[in-house]
Amino acid sequence: MSRKRKTDESYQGFEQGPIRPPSEAYSLLIRVTRSCPWNRCTFCPVYKGSRFSIRSVDHVKGDIDSVHGYIEVIKQMADESGRILRSEVRKGIEDYEKLDPKAFNAALNWFAGGMNSVFIQDADSLIIKPSNLVEILIHLKKHFPWVERVTSYARSHTIVRIKDPDLKAIRDAGLNRIHIGLESGSDKVLKMVKKGVTKETHVKAGLKVKKAGMELSEYIMPGLGGREYSKIHALETADALNRINPEFIRLRTLAIPNSVELFDDWEAGGFEKCTDLMMAKEILLLIESLNGITSVLKSDHILNLFENVEGTLPRDKERMLEILRTFLAMEPERQCLYQVGRRLGFFSSLSDMESPHRLAKAEKTCQQLGITPDNVDEVIDELMKRFI
Ligand code: SF4
Repeated sequence: MSRKRKTDESYQGFEQGPIRPPSEAYSLLIRVTRSCPWNRCTFCPVYKGSRFSIRSVDHVKGDIDSVHGYIEVIKQMADESGRILRSEVRKGIEDYEKLDPKAFNAALNWFAGGMNSVFIQDADSLIIKPSNLVEILIHLKKHFPWVERVTSYARSHTIVRIKDPDLKAIRDAGLNRIHIGLESGSDKVLKMVKKGVTKETHVKAGLKVKKAGMELSEYIMPGLGGREYSKIHALETADALNRINPEFIRLRTLAIPNSVELFDDWEAGGFEKCTDLMMAKEILLLIESLNGITSVLKSDHILNLFENVEGTLPRDKERMLEILRTFLAMEPERQCLYQVGRRLGFFSSLSDMESPHRLAKAEKTCQQLGITPDNVDEVIDELMKRFI
């Protein structure tokens, strides 16, 4: 199927896309494309209704030039320790702000965050011509030579179509980490959620990224297989990861907002969502099945039930499993309190339940809202929609 790719007609000023990985909170966001060229995953609300387009290289370079201009001015206004007073800077460069406030704000936030990293947006930046991406990366490096990390999202489907020398050229120009939404290693699950990629393509893409000398961060989605495929989802995902051995494995628990296709499947009874308890068992099986790899497992997403189920494999495997086993062995009432307390921000780990103050807050909420082990998962579903 051919898909028309539109490029800009005229420069509309500095742009930022809607999302970035949690680990890129302090990165400068440089938008190379808009939206997602696939845009069919049934669980993904991010770019629904927005059309994919590629920005011209000149416009992206224009964004970099704008931020660079503001950074140079901000640097001069910082004190000896590099600190800035935002209000003073705003006053001091009023004229600049009139030129492109979005670029100015991006520069100010980036300066305050240390200017160590850049994230290339949107969902699949490597889909553009490799030579164009190289040109943008070189421009970036020329203006910000101190930047240590330049990263991007990419689809496995796109990565496998890039020639090895082109991927290496992109790496040499500065892109040193790729975030891939692997989601699942199970072909059944991937097909069910219309991910548009197979397990083999995921494995091939992951190995290609590593071969090019880039760091690889694989996102996986506990719960995506629903009740029917929960076990195979855990086992096949672990197998794919064992074959890739990415630098990072990141957990991002499934949540289903009303706007996505999977919500309709769920409403119609075609998709049976896992409870938190089932999800904990699924993550336990997944981690038990991760073998022979040295990845860092991260749980850096607000939707995750266990913030501290993270560590380096194989060293921290047992500690991570122990957290899950402890939760699974708890009384239903206590599990319920943890689920509610975690989602409302009272707890970030099981040990936080030892704090009488925090525990009292969770208990009070459950009493006030009538939350019990029988209805807790329905309440959690509603709470999680706030964080999508
Ligand atoms: S490829 Fe990524 S951004 Fe695109 S629809 Fe799927 S999950 Fe969303």
